Formats: sequence, C-alpha cells, structure tokens
Amino acid sequence: MDILRSVLLAGSQSRWLRERAQRYGFVRNAVSRFMPGETVEAALDATRALGVGTVLTQLGENVSDLEQARGVTRHYLDVLERVRQSGLDVEISVKLTQLGLDLSREECEKNLLTLVERVRALSRWIWIDIESTAYTDRTLDIYRRMMAAYPRVGVCIQAYLYRTAEDLRSLLPLGGGLRLVKGAYREPPDKAFPKKSDVDENYFRLAEQLLSADARAKGVRAIFGTHDPVLIGRIEELGRTSGLSPEDLEFQMLYGIRRQEQERLAKAGHKFRVLISYGDAWFAWYMRRLAERPANVLFVAKSLFAR
Ligand SMILES: Cc1cc2nc3c(=O)[nH]c(=O)nc-3n(C[C@H](O)[C@H](O)[C@H](O)COP(=O)(O)OP(=O)(O)OC[C@H]3O[C@@H](n4cnc5c(N)ncnc54)[C@H](O)[C@@H]3O)c2cc1C
Repeated sequence: MDILRSVLLAGSQSRWLRERAQRYGFVRNAVSRFMPGETVEAALDATRALGVGTVLTQLGENVSDLEQARGVTRHYLDVLERVRQSGLDVEISVKLTQLGLDLSREECEKNLLTLVERVRALSRWIWIDIESTAYTDRTLDIYRRMMAAYPRVGVCIQAYLYRTAEDLRSLLPLGGGLRLVKGAYREPPDKAFPKKSDVDENYFRLAEQLLSADARAKGVRAIFGTHDPVLIGRIEELGRTSGLSPEDLEFQMLYGIRRQEQERLAKAGHKFRVLISYGDAWFAWYMRRLAERPANVLFVAKSLFAR
C-alpha cells in the first residue's frame, strides 16, 4: 500500500498523466464522488443540499504568472459576494501558491490581504491551506502577518511533520484558527513521520494542545480535519474528560468521504463543516485523495467497467 501511495503521489505531479486523465469520462465520473462540480455554483448548490456549513476552495496550485494569481483573487472576491447574497454559511480556504507565492511573495501577500480585508468587512473567517514543506515557513509567516490585520484568519497544520509540535507552541498564543490535518503531500523521512501509526499518535498529541486550557483562553478556533474514526473517538473522549460540551469541538471533513460519520458528527452537536473543492484543476488533488486510500483506485476501476 505504501508503494501504491508513493506511486499515486508521484503521479499527482505528472503532466503527461494529467493531460490524459482529464480527457476520460470514467475518470471524471469517479472524481464526482469527491467533488459536486467544477463551478462555484455547484459548490453552493451542494452546500444547500447538505444543510451544513461548508468551506469552499477552488482547485489549483502553483500558478505560472501573476495575472493568474490576481484572477484567483478576483474569483474569491466574487465567491464572497455570492456567499453574502445567498446568506449561506460558507467560509473560504485558499492556497498561497495559487495566490502567486512562487512568483512574488509580496504580490501573494497583497492578494491575500485583499481577501482578508473583504472577509473582515463581512465578519467572516478565511483559511489558508498548507502545502508541501517547501512552503511551510513562508505560509506560517504570512499567516502571522495576516493575523495582525484581522484575527479571524486560520491556517492548516500537518500532523505528519516533526516540526508541527514546535510550530504549534508559537502559534497558539496568537489565537486565530488552526485546522489540524494529517498531511497530504509526499515528504521525506527527515521531515515527516514515515509510519502512519506515528502520524496518528502525533495528531492526538497536537489535538491535546489545541484543546488545552491555554489554547481556549487565547480564543483559538481549533478544527479537527480528519475522517479517522479512532482519532475522532479519542478527541470526543478528550473533550468529555476536559469538561467541554459537544459544540466546543469542531470537525471538518472532505465532501463525499464518510458521509454517515459526517451526519453523526453534526447530529452529536459538534460544530461541523464539509470542505468542498471545485474547479477544473482537479487532477493533482484527486490523485492525493486516491493516495489517502488506495482502495479508491478500485473504485475508479469499477467506474471504468460500469460504463
Ligand atoms: C477539512 C480538511 C482540510 C484539509 N486541508 C489540507 C491542507 O491544507 N493541507 C494538507 O496537506 N492536507 C489537507 N487535508 C487532507 C489531509 O491532510 C489528509 O490527507 C486527509 O484528510 C486524509 O487523512 P485522514 O485524517 O482522514 O486519515 P486517514 O487515516 O487517511 O483516513 C482515515 C479513514 O478515513 C477514510 N478516508 C480518508 N481519506 C479517504 C479518501 N480519500 N477516500 C475515501 N475514504 C477516505 C477511510 O475510511 C480511512 O480509513 C485536509 C483534510 C480535511 C478533512
């Protein structure tokens, strides 16, 4: 399974494969399990249908010129306007490489600040995704700078990285939002725990920090972005033993993954959101979803034969 995971993650960066996969209808059918459609309207319709709050993110990373990055910024301004008009409970999550981080950090920050200011005018939250370790320092740095402009900014942190425990110690005093995930990129063993059981254990240790009395005193909005039933159970138990009520815990899951558990969490009284990805740049993202659960490759194969 580890080999298949590595192959899928390597494949996620292959242009050759991307160009071919996007042409095939059966691949698009399989993708629709994780994505309600390519447009923001499809994502908003899915929000209505789900009846829970969502986080929307447009697929795509590493833009190749700054005009594209400005286009992404304009896109999110338009999304925020649609959300305002619809009255739906929707937040947005952005990738810094999509806002131009590879090309100009200054321009990237300018684009992000434009979004942060718009979100502030609407009294909403904005989230920053975390990408591979090539970007961790810059992402956390930019997050800290945005927090100075507006405190309802959140950033994602990855439990598979050794450094995250240390990062968390410096991030917690800032308050703001912290979304804990396991991590979806291919990282070397000197940066990330190679064994899944170590990642899971580190996730729980970080969850303890996120739910600590100190973190709560600082007003941290802690999000547990995971589908892992064991971890979710342990975090719920930790909440109970720490004297928290169900609504003090917030979980987020990806659209289409473990739907029954999504309903259960919402019904249990926890805060809960579904992260919906949309857009036409779905290839690398979809390969990462396959790598998370190589059994999904079977699902693609089945859709091939079900044509
Ligand atoms: C809200 C949210 C935001 C995220 N943001 C980021 C980010 O900014 N940066 C980043 O690196 N990663 C991000 N991720 C992805 C994350 O890093 C993991 O790759 C992903 O969540 C799978 O890990 P898991 O915690 O669900 O645990 P796993 O141990 O991978 O999975 C636990 C169980 O969940 C189910 N499951 C998990 N994935 C799938 C799947 N693809 N298909 C079907 N079933 C599945 C299976 O039943 C599996 O046994 C995000 C995830 C979520 C939920």
